[in-house]
Amino acid sequence: MEQIAFRLAVAGRMRCTTLKPNIGLVLQHLSQFEQVDRPGMIAKQSLDRGAGVIVVVPDSPAAAAGIRPGDVLLAIDGHALPPETALSAAFDAARAHARADAIRDLLADAGTQSFTISLLRDDMVSAVKVTPVSACPSDGHLARSNQQNAYADGRHVFLTTGLLSRLQNDDELAFIIAHEMAHNILHHATIMRVADVKHGLGHTLGRSGRIVRETEREADALGGDLMIDAGFDPVRGAAILKRLDRADLGIDLFAAHDSAGKRIAAMRVLENSRIPR
Ligand SMILES: [Zn+2]
Repeated sequence: MEQIAFRLAVAGRMRCTTLKPNIGLVLQHLSQFEQVDRPGMIAKQSLDRGAGVIVVVPDSPAAAAGIRPGDVLLAIDGHALPPETALSAAFDAARAHARADAIRDLLADAGTQSFTISLLRDDMVSAVKVTPVSACPSDGHLARSNQQNAYADGRHVFLTTGLLSRLQNDDELAFIIAHEMAHNILHHATIMRVADVKHGLGHTLGRSGRIVRETEREADALGGDLMIDAGFDPVRGAAILKRLDRADLGIDLFAAHDSAGKRIAAMRVLENSRIPR
């Protein structure tokens, strides 16, 4: 997921008015685990010392700096990671997201110039220098849920494990991520709030339905452009819409969208308009 989000965010940066530094890392931390699993993560990954690296996006600044999966981040640009205090016994999604955001903020605050990350690897502390790239904002989270859904809250892109399991290729995953990233880039969450738009089945007609349909078309259009910029195929990606079971869809994918056929046709028009002549 992060690999595709990174590709979309970097390739589409000319389309975003607000850019964020990105180094291409996926991290894990103790607050993401149930209490019973924490001692194991401390013994295996030293997650009591800092944030553990789980994915390094190939060809990213983190990869160029030599950061590897299994490394533990201790400090970013001279700032020690905020301590994980008073963890509750059970997994707490809000807390886990807040933790992830705090570390992402530290990385973003380090700016676009080179900065130092201090790392723990095999009980040895070392420092590496990373030079971030500017990219569209793309904070992705996987949500554990059997619901098939994806949504954007203004900053994050959420994708449920239930939806992830239905995807057949990278173009389909890129379609979902790019569409949700586009909602955030276009500030749709704020627009809906200000316009007091009502969601749900009873509101697919009338003013709320019109605004939702309009923002959905905008998100498809910008998402399709981001996909083409990054070398994905939006028509192949939009094919996921035909396979999804409407009855099982939640907030965003259940919004007042055009039909799957109409949305795929719009992607085909977009793709044809971008073919170099
Ligand atoms: Zn949408």
